[in-house]
Amino acid sequence: MKKKVIGLKIDVDTYRGMRDGVPRLLQTLKDFNIKGSFYLRIGPDASGLAMWQIVRNPRFLQKMLTSNAVGMYGIKTALYGTLLASPLIALSFPQLIEEMLSDGHDLQFHAWDHRRWQDSLASRSEKWIAEWFSKGIEGFESLTGKKPRAFGAPGWMIDERVVKLASTFGFSYLSCTRAQEPFIHLSNGLVEIPSDLPCFEEVGLKDGAHKILRLLNDERTHIFPVHAEVEGGVGEEEFRKFLQGALQKGFAITTVDEIFSTLGKSLPLRDFRMELLAGRAFPCAV
Ligand SMILES: [Zn+2]
Repeated sequence: MKKKVIGLKIDVDTYRGMRDGVPRLLQTLKDFNIKGSFYLRIGPDASGLAMWQIVRNPRFLQKMLTSNAVGMYGIKTALYGTLLASPLIALSFPQLIEEMLSDGHDLQFHAWDHRRWQDSLASRSEKWIAEWFSKGIEGFESLTGKKPRAFGAPGWMIDERVVKLASTFGFSYLSCTRAQEPFIHLSNGLVEIPSDLPCFEEVGLKDGAHKILRLLNDERTHIFPVHAEVEGGVGEEEFRKFLQGALQKGFAITTVDEIFSTLGKSLPLRDFRMELLAGRAFPCAV
């Protein structure tokens, strides 16, 4: 991948991110005349369950405090699944999905229930994972009229069972890791297009655009991970700065799907592994 291209992988993780973040992002992308890939969380927003992580994982609390999580995600989001009922995310906004499609953006599958995946994947059965995929893909199809071509796992968290199951659900490629270069998953032969750049949550919003732009000093294709509730909320200004800076550096900005279709065939074949990256509370696949 020796071309100056950036793919935008925009995860829609919360109800608020879908309702408020997506329309603002659509406007930003329109202003820059660029397209992005939206990875949709289809089912319930049980983000409030994350609060239990404060008890279980001290790194999680630290991340919440240093990233100003309540400012980024909102107080209501912090209560969904606990004091407030969990609203459905993409399924509550069919008209927004239509708008995303008519604007020419690429839509793919991110999650049925994001929180339960991130909190308890290891203890879940293969049957639970298969049902999670089935419900999510069915919802995706009812919204878009198509099956998703790609899957981007919540929190870049996968295991062997997920990778094997993913190949039975008809995906053409995955975007489940934070590796530095695309590769082919050894266990299922699917292409992996990783998010190699850090996200604002990891580097912080203050001067965030600059910190990430500094990493763009090569003639390469990159994937920038975006979160609808951040870049379509308190991070909008930094996101606009990032887009402007990247274009000034001569990078083209496009969808992950477009990058997949122009990818060379000779990718390395390997297994993923889990690694704790700077600024994250949980290990990610790399
Ligand atoms: Zn996510």
